[in-house]
Amino acid sequence: MANIIDGKAVSAAVKAEVAKETAKLREEHGLKVGLAVVIVGNDQASRVYVNNKKKACEAVGFQSYEYALDENTTQEQLLDLVEVLNRDDKINGILVQLPLPPHIDEKAVINTISPEKDVDAFHPVNVGKIMIGDYSFLPCTPAGVMRLIESTGTDITGKNCVVIGRSNIVGKPQAMLLLQKNGTVTICHSKTKNLKEICLGADILVVAIGRAKFITGDMIKEGAVVIDVGMDRDENNKLCGDVDFESAEKRASYITPVPGGVGPMTIAMLMKNTLTAAKQQAGLE
Ligand code: NAP
Repeated sequence: MANIIDGKAVSAAVKAEVAKETAKLREEHGLKVGLAVVIVGNDQASRVYVNNKKKACEAVGFQSYEYALDENTTQEQLLDLVEVLNRDDKINGILVQLPLPPHIDEKAVINTISPEKDVDAFHPVNVGKIMIGDYSFLPCTPAGVMRLIESTGTDITGKNCVVIGRSNIVGKPQAMLLLQKNGTVTICHSKTKNLKEICLGADILVVAIGRAKFITGDMIKEGAVVIDVGMDRDENNKLCGDVDFESAEKRASYITPVPGGVGPMTIAMLMKNTLTAAKQQAGLE
Protein backbone atom coordinates (compact mmCIF):
# COMPACT_ATOMS: atom_id res chain seq x y z
CA MET A 1 0.00 0.00 0.00
CA ALA A 2 1.32 3.42 -0.97
CA ASN A 3 2.26 6.19 1.41
CA ILE A 4 -0.13 9.10 0.97
CA ILE A 5 1.56 12.41 0.17
CA ASP A 6 -0.12 15.04 2.32
CA GLY A 7 -0.43 18.14 0.12
CA LYS A 8 -2.15 20.08 2.89
CA ALA A 9 0.80 19.58 5.24
CA VAL A 10 3.44 20.35 2.60
CA SER A 11 1.55 23.46 1.45
CA ALA A 12 1.15 24.61 5.07
CA ALA A 13 4.93 24.32 5.48
CA VAL A 14 5.51 26.42 2.32
CA LYS A 15 3.03 29.07 3.50
CA ALA A 16 4.65 29.14 6.95
CA GLU A 17 8.06 29.80 5.32
CA VAL A 18 6.51 32.59 3.24
CA ALA A 19 4.78 34.14 6.29
CA LYS A 20 8.05 34.12 8.23
CA GLU A 21 9.98 35.81 5.43
CA THR A 22 7.18 38.31 4.84
CA ALA A 23 7.28 39.35 8.51
CA LYS A 24 11.06 39.67 8.27
CA LEU A 25 10.80 41.89 5.17
CA ARG A 26 8.41 44.17 7.01
CA GLU A 27 10.52 44.35 10.17
CA GLU A 28 13.94 44.70 8.57
CA HIS A 29 13.11 46.70 5.44
CA GLY A 30 9.67 48.21 6.07
CA LEU A 31 8.38 46.42 2.98
CA LYS A 32 4.83 45.22 2.42
CA VAL A 33 4.05 42.56 -0.16
CA GLY A 34 1.08 43.20 -2.48
CA LEU A 35 -0.72 40.89 -4.88
CA ALA A 36 -3.31 42.19 -7.36
CA VAL A 37 -5.95 39.67 -8.37
CA VAL A 38 -8.04 40.59 -11.39
CA ILE A 39 -11.25 38.74 -12.21
CA VAL A 40 -13.55 39.47 -15.14
CA GLY A 41 -17.15 38.24 -15.15
CA ASN A 42 -19.12 35.93 -12.89
CA ASP A 43 -17.64 32.47 -13.38
CA GLN A 44 -18.38 30.66 -10.10
CA ALA A 45 -15.28 28.45 -10.10
CA SER A 46 -13.06 31.49 -10.78
CA ARG A 47 -14.77 33.32 -7.91
CA VAL A 48 -13.91 30.45 -5.53
CA TYR A 49 -10.27 30.42 -6.70
CA VAL A 50 -9.98 34.19 -6.26
CA ASN A 51 -11.44 34.05 -2.75
CA ASN A 52 -9.01 31.27 -1.82
CA LYS A 53 -6.11 33.33 -3.11
CA LYS A 54 -7.25 36.35 -1.07
CA LYS A 55 -7.51 34.21 2.05
CA ALA A 56 -4.03 32.79 1.46
CA CYS A 57 -2.65 36.35 1.07
CA GLU A 58 -4.13 37.35 4.42
CA ALA A 59 -2.75 34.22 6.08
CA VAL A 60 0.85 34.93 5.00
CA GLY A 61 0.65 38.68 5.71
CA PHE A 62 0.34 40.02 2.13
CA GLN A 63 -1.92 42.84 1.11
CA SER A 64 -4.32 41.62 -1.58
CA TYR A 65 -5.98 43.99 -4.03
CA GLU A 66 -8.99 42.65 -5.84
CA TYR A 67 -10.21 44.07 -9.15
CA ALA A 68 -13.57 42.49 -9.98
CA LEU A 69 -14.55 43.66 -13.45
CA ASP A 70 -17.83 43.40 -15.22
CA GLU A 71 -18.39 40.62 -17.81
CA ASN A 72 -18.64 43.31 -20.51
CA THR A 73 -15.25 44.86 -19.77
CA THR A 74 -13.44 45.43 -23.05
CA GLN A 75 -9.99 44.09 -23.80
CA GLU A 76 -8.69 47.65 -23.96
CA GLN A 77 -10.03 48.43 -20.47
CA LEU A 78 -8.44 45.28 -19.07
CA LEU A 79 -5.10 46.02 -20.74
CA ASP A 80 -5.23 49.57 -19.36
CA LEU A 81 -5.75 48.21 -15.85
CA VAL A 82 -2.83 45.80 -16.23
CA GLU A 83 -0.62 48.72 -17.36
CA VAL A 84 -1.65 50.70 -14.29
CA LEU A 85 -0.83 47.74 -12.02
CA ASN A 86 2.52 47.28 -13.78
CA ARG A 87 3.45 50.82 -12.72
CA ASP A 88 2.02 50.64 -9.18
CA ASP A 89 4.79 50.14 -6.59
CA LYS A 90 2.36 48.68 -4.02
CA ILE A 91 1.72 45.78 -6.37
CA ASN A 92 4.46 43.16 -6.52
CA GLY A 93 2.52 40.44 -8.30
CA ILE A 94 -0.34 40.52 -10.82
CA LEU A 95 -2.63 37.61 -11.37
CA VAL A 96 -5.38 37.70 -13.96
CA GLN A 97 -7.75 34.84 -13.24
CA LEU A 98 -8.32 32.62 -16.29
CA PRO A 99 -10.44 31.83 -18.22
CA LEU A 100 -11.40 35.28 -19.48
CA PRO A 101 -14.65 35.94 -21.35
CA PRO A 102 -14.39 34.90 -25.03
CA HIS A 103 -14.21 38.47 -26.40
CA ILE A 104 -10.88 39.01 -24.58
CA ASP A 105 -7.63 37.63 -26.00
CA GLU A 106 -5.91 35.88 -23.07
CA LYS A 107 -2.56 35.93 -24.84
CA ALA A 108 -2.68 39.73 -25.23
CA VAL A 109 -3.42 40.09 -21.51
CA ILE A 110 -0.64 37.72 -20.40
CA ASN A 111 1.82 39.46 -22.72
CA THR A 112 0.96 42.84 -21.16
CA ILE A 113 1.75 41.79 -17.57
CA SER A 114 5.25 42.91 -16.67
CA PRO A 115 7.43 39.75 -16.51
CA GLU A 116 8.75 40.95 -13.13
CA LYS A 117 5.18 40.86 -11.73
CA ASP A 118 4.03 37.75 -13.61
CA VAL A 119 3.71 35.49 -10.55
CA ASP A 120 1.81 32.83 -12.55
CA ALA A 121 4.89 32.56 -14.82
CA PHE A 122 2.74 32.56 -17.97
CA HIS A 123 4.48 35.43 -19.79
CA PRO A 124 6.63 34.22 -22.73
CA VAL A 125 9.72 35.75 -21.09
CA ASN A 126 9.20 33.62 -17.99
CA VAL A 127 8.28 30.55 -20.06
CA GLY A 128 11.55 31.00 -21.99
CA LYS A 129 13.51 31.35 -18.77
CA ILE A 130 12.11 28.03 -17.56
CA MET A 131 13.35 26.41 -20.80
CA ILE A 132 16.91 27.59 -20.18
CA GLY A 133 16.79 26.85 -16.44
CA ASP A 134 17.39 30.49 -15.44
CA TYR A 135 14.15 31.45 -13.82
CA SER A 136 12.72 33.74 -11.15
CA PHE A 137 9.25 32.23 -11.02
CA LEU A 138 8.17 28.68 -11.58
CA PRO A 139 4.63 28.03 -12.75
CA CYS A 140 2.68 27.32 -9.59
CA THR A 141 1.22 23.85 -10.19
CA PRO A 142 4.37 22.18 -11.60
CA ALA A 143 6.44 23.84 -8.86
CA GLY A 144 4.03 22.42 -6.30
CA VAL A 145 4.41 18.97 -7.84
CA MET A 146 8.21 19.22 -7.54
CA ARG A 147 7.86 20.13 -3.88
CA LEU A 148 5.60 17.10 -3.29
CA ILE A 149 8.08 14.76 -4.99
CA GLU A 150 10.86 16.30 -2.89
CA SER A 151 8.79 15.64 0.25
CA THR A 152 9.00 11.88 -0.44
CA GLY A 153 12.82 12.00 -0.39
CA THR A 154 12.92 10.63 -3.96
CA ASP A 155 16.05 11.56 -5.94
CA ILE A 156 14.86 12.38 -9.46
CA THR A 157 18.31 11.94 -11.04
CA GLY A 158 18.26 9.15 -13.63
CA LYS A 159 14.64 8.20 -12.91
CA ASN A 160 12.19 7.51 -15.72
CA CYS A 161 9.69 10.35 -15.39
CA VAL A 162 6.48 10.23 -17.40
CA VAL A 163 4.28 13.31 -17.67
CA ILE A 164 0.83 12.77 -19.15
CA GLY A 165 -0.52 16.02 -20.60
CA ARG A 166 1.25 18.75 -22.56
CA SER A 167 -0.62 21.93 -21.60
CA ASN A 168 1.34 25.15 -21.31
CA ILE A 169 0.41 25.56 -17.65
CA VAL A 170 1.05 22.03 -16.39
CA GLY A 171 2.46 19.31 -18.68
CA LYS A 172 5.16 21.18 -20.62
CA PRO A 173 6.69 23.14 -17.70
CA GLN A 174 6.42 20.02 -15.52
CA ALA A 175 8.52 18.06 -18.01
CA MET A 176 11.14 20.85 -18.04
CA LEU A 177 11.41 20.92 -14.25
CA LEU A 178 11.86 17.15 -14.06
CA LEU A 179 14.49 17.37 -16.81
CA GLN A 180 16.35 20.06 -14.88
CA LYS A 181 16.48 17.66 -11.93
CA ASN A 182 18.10 15.10 -14.25
CA GLY A 183 15.08 12.91 -14.81
CA THR A 184 14.75 11.01 -18.11
CA VAL A 185 11.49 12.51 -19.24
CA THR A 186 8.75 11.26 -21.56
CA ILE A 187 5.76 13.50 -22.37
CA CYS A 188 2.50 11.78 -23.35
CA HIS A 189 -0.67 13.26 -24.83
CA SER A 190 -3.88 12.26 -26.56
CA LYS A 191 -2.04 10.98 -29.66
CA THR A 192 0.46 8.86 -27.72
CA LYS A 193 0.53 5.21 -28.68
CA ASN A 194 1.07 2.47 -26.09
CA LEU A 195 0.32 4.73 -23.14
CA LYS A 196 0.05 1.77 -20.77
CA GLU A 197 3.53 0.44 -21.63
CA ILE A 198 5.06 3.89 -21.26
CA CYS A 199 3.36 4.37 -17.89
CA LEU A 200 4.57 0.96 -16.72
CA GLY A 201 8.15 2.19 -17.25
CA ALA A 202 7.64 5.27 -15.05
CA ASP A 203 9.44 5.58 -11.71
CA ILE A 204 7.73 8.95 -11.36
CA LEU A 205 4.34 9.44 -13.02
CA VAL A 206 2.73 12.90 -13.17
CA VAL A 207 -0.80 12.87 -14.56
CA ALA A 208 -2.47 16.07 -15.86
CA ILE A 209 -5.15 15.05 -18.31
CA GLY A 210 -8.53 16.17 -16.98
CA ARG A 211 -10.28 12.77 -17.25
CA ALA A 212 -11.67 11.16 -14.11
CA LYS A 213 -9.82 8.01 -12.91
CA PHE A 214 -8.23 7.50 -16.35
CA ILE A 215 -4.99 5.97 -15.06
CA THR A 216 -5.62 2.67 -13.34
CA GLY A 217 -3.45 0.50 -11.09
CA ASP A 218 -2.51 -1.89 -13.92
CA MET A 219 -0.77 1.04 -15.69
CA ILE A 220 1.48 1.78 -12.72
CA LYS A 221 4.90 0.30 -12.06
CA GLU A 222 5.29 -1.36 -8.67
CA GLY A 223 6.84 1.23 -6.32
CA ALA A 224 6.29 4.29 -8.56
CA VAL A 225 5.73 7.80 -7.21
CA VAL A 226 2.35 8.91 -8.58
CA ILE A 227 1.30 12.57 -8.66
CA ASP A 228 -2.27 13.29 -9.72
CA VAL A 229 -2.82 16.84 -10.93
CA GLY A 230 -6.35 16.20 -12.21
CA MET A 231 -9.39 17.83 -10.67
CA ASP A 232 -12.40 16.01 -12.01
CA ARG A 233 -15.84 14.80 -10.96
CA ASP A 234 -16.71 11.10 -10.75
CA GLU A 235 -20.00 9.43 -11.66
CA ASN A 236 -21.47 10.64 -8.33
CA ASN A 237 -20.26 14.20 -8.92
CA LYS A 238 -17.62 13.73 -6.22
CA LEU A 239 -14.25 15.46 -6.65
CA CYS A 240 -11.61 13.00 -7.89
CA GLY A 241 -8.39 12.95 -9.89
CA ASP A 242 -7.13 11.56 -13.19
CA VAL A 243 -5.81 8.51 -11.33
CA ASP A 244 -8.02 5.74 -10.02
CA PHE A 245 -6.77 6.09 -6.45
CA GLU A 246 -8.09 2.77 -5.14
CA SER A 247 -6.26 0.56 -7.64
CA ALA A 248 -3.22 2.86 -7.94
CA GLU A 249 -2.42 2.96 -4.23
CA LYS A 250 -1.93 -0.82 -4.28
CA ARG A 251 1.01 -0.40 -6.71
CA ALA A 252 2.57 3.00 -5.97
CA SER A 253 5.11 3.68 -3.22
CA TYR A 254 3.83 7.25 -2.85
CA ILE A 255 0.64 8.79 -4.19
CA THR A 256 -1.22 12.10 -3.92
CA PRO A 257 -4.92 12.05 -3.04
CA VAL A 258 -7.55 14.27 -4.71
CA PRO A 259 -8.53 16.44 -2.95
CA GLY A 260 -5.65 17.21 -0.59
CA GLY A 261 -2.69 16.55 -2.90
CA VAL A 262 -1.57 18.92 -5.65
CA GLY A 263 -4.52 21.34 -5.24
CA PRO A 264 -3.35 23.08 -2.04
CA MET A 265 0.19 23.39 -3.42
CA THR A 266 -0.75 25.68 -6.30
CA ILE A 267 -1.80 28.59 -4.08
CA ALA A 268 1.14 28.05 -1.72
CA MET A 269 3.56 28.34 -4.67
CA LEU A 270 1.73 31.48 -5.86
CA MET A 271 2.44 33.02 -2.45
CA LYS A 272 6.08 32.01 -2.75
CA ASN A 273 6.36 33.60 -6.23
CA THR A 274 4.79 36.83 -4.98
CA LEU A 275 7.30 37.02 -2.14
CA THR A 276 10.15 36.41 -4.62
CA ALA A 277 8.77 39.19 -6.84
CA ALA A 278 8.66 41.62 -3.89
CA LYS A 279 12.24 40.79 -2.91
CA GLN A 280 13.51 41.17 -6.47
CA GLN A 281 11.73 44.48 -6.97
CA ALA A 282 13.33 45.75 -3.75
CA GLY A 283 16.75 44.61 -4.98
CA LEU A 284 17.01 42.05 -2.18
CA GLU A 285 17.30 38.92 -4.38
P1 NAP B 1 -5.60 20.61 -20.68
O1 NAP B 1 -5.05 21.92 -21.12
O2 NAP B 1 -6.97 20.23 -21.08
O3 NAP B 1 -4.60 19.47 -21.17
C1 NAP B 1 -4.89 18.11 -21.04
C2 NAP B 1 -3.80 17.29 -21.64
O4 NAP B 1 -4.15 15.93 -21.49
C3 NAP B 1 -3.58 17.56 -23.14
O5 NAP B 1 -2.20 17.69 -23.41
C4 NAP B 1 -4.17 16.32 -23.80
O6 NAP B 1 -3.50 15.92 -24.98
C5 NAP B 1 -3.94 15.26 -22.72
N1 NAP B 1 -4.87 14.16 -22.89
C6 NAP B 1 -6.21 14.20 -23.08
N2 NAP B 1 -6.71 12.98 -23.24
C7 NAP B 1 -5.69 12.13 -23.18
C8 NAP B 1 -5.56 10.73 -23.28
N3 NAP B 1 -6.61 9.96 -23.53
N4 NAP B 1 -4.34 10.17 -23.16
C9 NAP B 1 -3.26 10.95 -22.93
N5 NAP B 1 -3.31 12.28 -22.81
C10 NAP B 1 -4.51 12.88 -22.94
O7 NAP B 1 -5.56 20.45 -19.10
P2 NAP B 1 -4.61 21.11 -17.98
O8 NAP B 1 -4.94 22.55 -17.82
O9 NAP B 1 -3.20 20.69 -18.17
O10 NAP B 1 -5.20 20.36 -16.69
C11 NAP B 1 -5.18 18.95 -16.56
C12 NAP B 1 -5.92 18.55 -15.29
O11 NAP B 1 -5.27 19.15 -14.18
C13 NAP B 1 -7.37 19.06 -15.22
O12 NAP B 1 -8.14 18.10 -14.51
C14 NAP B 1 -7.27 20.34 -14.41
O13 NAP B 1 -8.47 20.63 -13.72
C15 NAP B 1 -6.19 19.96 -13.44
N6 NAP B 1 -5.44 21.10 -12.90
C16 NAP B 1 -5.28 21.14 -11.56
C17 NAP B 1 -4.56 22.17 -10.97
C18 NAP B 1 -4.38 22.17 -9.49
O14 NAP B 1 -4.08 23.18 -8.91
N7 NAP B 1 -4.52 21.02 -8.85
C19 NAP B 1 -4.00 23.18 -11.75
C20 NAP B 1 -4.16 23.10 -13.14
C21 NAP B 1 -4.87 22.04 -13.71
P3 NAP B 1 -3.51 16.80 -26.34
O15 NAP B 1 -2.54 17.90 -26.10
O16 NAP B 1 -3.07 15.86 -27.39
O17 NAP B 1 -4.93 17.28 -26.50
